[in-house]
Amino acid sequence: MDISQKDVENSKNSHPLGTNPYFRFNSSSKHIEDQVFKCRGIIINERFWNRIRDELTELLKDQGPLVLYQLGLSYGVDVGFQGRSLTNDSANTIKFLEYYGLLAGWGRFETSDFQLNDGRIGEGVIVKIRDSFFAQTTKNHTGIPSCYFVSGLLAGIAEGLFEEGHHCLEKRCLSTGSEFCEFIIRRNVGDPTSNF
Ligand SMILES: [Zn+2]
Repeated sequence: MDISQKDVENSKNSHPLGTNPYFRFNSSSKHIEDQVFKCRGIIINERFWNRIRDELTELLKDQGPLVLYQLGLSYGVDVGFQGRSLTNDSANTIKFLEYYGLLAGWGRFETSDFQLNDGRIGEGVIVKIRDSFFAQTTKNHTGIPSCYFVSGLLAGIAEGLFEEGHHCLEKRCLSTGSEFCEFIIRRNVGDPTSNF
């Protein structure tokens, strides 16, 4: 699927109710097909995700957050790398991926405007996610943001898009009572603030 300007424009508006151009059930193959990344998909619900997260957390104890972050990072690199081939403009790619995430049910992504210096992000990039699926399923009272999988995912997407390592820290989280989840993405290399 080639991403047209129309797709980018669609991403700025709400899509008509009940239609989802990126995920379709193919009545011949009996598969749900991801039209963007050309692969089979499944629908998971929050019960399924809760089981995965809770089991990982229980089995891995203190390492659970790191493993969730790494899972997100690995997948994010793949998404970012493939996203680069969809449009030739990183701002358009990000707008498109925000829309893809919305239609995949992840939440409403808002990426701050940022400048590229020599193809690299200069300062930190802020990403807000409103009504995040992953935060909605994690009510916690620790006060600590806990969307480790999504943090890793965003760092990975940045790595895939800009071809160098990034890290991502969640500054506030819906699951701890904030209005939305807010993340900051920074480059790993040459960034004196990278040790968080
Ligand atoms: Zn969160």
